[in-house]
Amino acid sequence: MDKIRLRNDIILFASLLLAALAVWGALKLLQKPGKYVVVEIEGKVSAVYALDGDLKLDIVTADGHVNKLVIENGKARIESADCPDKLCVKQHAISMTGETIICLPHKLVIRIEGEGGVDAVT
Ligand SMILES: [Zn+2]
Repeated sequence: MDKIRLRNDIILFASLLLAALAVWGALKLLQKPGKYVVVEIEGKVSAVYALDGDLKLDIVTADGHVNKLVIENGKARIESADCPDKLCVKQHAISMTGETIICLPHKLVIRIEGEGGVDAVT
């Protein structure tokens, strides 16, 4: 009896592991080099920029806060910001679909999207 239970446990464990691997693999496959940089303020899309053009601009939120967005070499990052935590500045440059840089104090989201958009992921 115990042997059967042990075997069932192993089968259960193995299938859980396989399921986790499958999800991880699918997510990796979905990540493709992005095409657009989408800027969202308070959940609303405020601007969309091409990822393949170099660009430097200030994103100004409704209450006057500033995040400096830099797009260069096919990657987007926040160069500087006047938020208190500066977490958005510390986040690494993003270039793959579905990747985001979030500035919580400014309710700002920078998101990379591909050709057809990746809204289903969010
Ligand atoms: Zn910030």
